[in-house]
Amino acid sequence: MIKQRFIASVQPYLNPTQVHESIYDIDFIELQTLGVKHLFFDVDNTLMSYSETNVSIKCMALFNDIQLIGFDTVMLMSNNSNVDRIEAVAKQLQLPAVTFACKPFVFTMRRVAADAAINLNEAAMIGDQLLTDIAMANVLNMRSIFVEPMDAEHVSGTKKMQYTFQKWLMRQ
Ligand SMILES: [Mg+2]
Repeated sequence: MIKQRFIASVQPYLNPTQVHESIYDIDFIELQTLGVKHLFFDVDNTLMSYSETNVSIKCMALFNDIQLIGFDTVMLMSNNSNVDRIEAVAKQLQLPAVTFACKPFVFTMRRVAADAAINLNEAAMIGDQLLTDIAMANVLNMRSIFVEPMDAEHVSGTKKMQYTFQKWLMRQ
């Protein structure tokens, strides 16, 4: 009973608009057709695993394609407080980045959207965590696109628990 009530209360916020195995399975042309003009990407375990310091060639090629499709905004939005790490990725992909975004709290995204006059109904957040990326996007009425974490094994104990929890949530 408590379990059902809990799931019912959090579900609206943890239900992704789309679920994919990886960023490479997302149809970005379709997203544009659906009216999405702004893309926000999580970094860790969405674009690269925690153990990697560089994005792959495949990832660079994808972002090249995304640029060619022509979105108004393509931005990295990471909770990581390691500014050097995220800035390095941003440089590799030639994208603007926000670090320490405090997802699922909405204040960072709201500020970014206000500064750039972005209508969040026309924006998508792509990430590997229900409790941060997806929850924030849903609270803000953004399109929420969940991708499986790239490497759920080599992460901290807390992250492992989060991944186990979200796997359980996804099954409900
Ligand atoms: Mg992540």
